[in-house]
Amino acid sequence: MRYHAASTDSLMFITPRPEIVFERGEGSWLFDHTGRRYLDFIQGWAVNCLGHCPPEITEALAGQAAKLINPSPAFYNGPMVELAGLLTAHSVFDRVFFANTGAEANEGAIKLARKWGRLNRAGAHEIITFGHSFHGRTLATMSASGKAGWDTIYAPQVAGFPKAVYNDIASVEALIGPQTVAVMLEPVQGEGGVIPAEPGFLRALRQLTAERGILLIVDEVQSGMGRTGKLFAYEHAGIAPDIMTLGKGIGGGVPLAALLAREAVCCFEPGDQGGTYNGNPLMTAVGVAVLKRLLAPGFLAGVEARGQYLAQRLGELSDRHGLPGERGSGLLRALILADERGPQLVAAALTMQPQGLLLNSPRPNLLRFMPALNVSEAEIDQMIGQLDALLQQ
Ligand SMILES: *Cc1c(COP(=O)(O)O)cnc(C)c1O
Repeated sequence: MRYHAASTDSLMFITPRPEIVFERGEGSWLFDHTGRRYLDFIQGWAVNCLGHCPPEITEALAGQAAKLINPSPAFYNGPMVELAGLLTAHSVFDRVFFANTGAEANEGAIKLARKWGRLNRAGAHEIITFGHSFHGRTLATMSASGKAGWDTIYAPQVAGFPKAVYNDIASVEALIGPQTVAVMLEPVQGEGGVIPAEPGFLRALRQLTAERGILLIVDEVQSGMGRTGKLFAYEHAGIAPDIMTLGKGIGGGVPLAALLAREAVCCFEPGDQGGTYNGNPLMTAVGVAVLKRLLAPGFLAGVEARGQYLAQRLGELSDRHGLPGERGSGLLRALILADERGPQLVAAALTMQPQGLLLNSPRPNLLRFMPALNVSEAEIDQMIGQLDALLQQ
């Protein structure tokens, strides 16, 4: 495709992309190069938690860009310190390391657990993860992930990630051995098809890992930052994990991620961990603005209410079309299809008239919904109306 003077052929091919170029975003809406508009229920893959280009973010970016962009990660800066303080004050964790992507935060979690195991568990280094899990696209995080085929594409894998069965505590117990240092999971499996961990399973995991003296790591890159109606999804189970990773929503669209840990686990020494951009004020200033909005009175209650509303509307749609149902947590939800029409529906939604609809199908038998956390009931109604028309065809 040609766009202005350039050709899209200059980009390395990694995924098929539709023949449109997005030029502008506003709240729940995206506009392409022809001016056509799209109702966005992907939001950069659960990233734009306040929608496209919210004033909080554009003001934080412009204000910080005019003051200080990057003094180097070897120095303190104001937004870095403020955001770490807000995160520890509103979670069970004591310390924060900032990164740029969810995968990088998870790499940090894996390194921290392995170092802790070397110091405290006679070199134990295995981290039990789960089938169908997704932890990122670096070599170690792909090895930690339970996606079919990922064990061979870039073989040999990084060793030490035995896979248990999600929501099955006996399968975890069976894998624990002298080399085990941690269990790592997503409180809601996102890419795996929006499958929430049962609260009882999370509580049993916390009890089991505590009894065996190993760490519990929650990957909240997708489920954290208000997505499920609580600031962090682990809160639904009333547990206190040892390590948590954040990404996606924490930056509201800009590259920001974080690794959080309890004091007793923080064993990095100078040289063990770092990164050129970690904690840079341009991104952490956005993080502060996003988190303050999520913490504003009534915001999370609104997410929960609209999560319930989306669940109810999807449930009605499912009944009307004789589908198997819906599932999810807060504003991270899936509509289960009776067949493998997911990718077809996504493509048809994109080209709908008079306006497009952006949906995602992480598995062919379901559609995933991850709107902005401030999506309105009217926008949910519009999405349901468009989807209803699509399902009728
Ligand atoms: C998206 C995601 C990641 C990877 O984050 P990137 O920023 O793409 O590296 C890791 N874990 C979970 C649960 C995710 O949803």
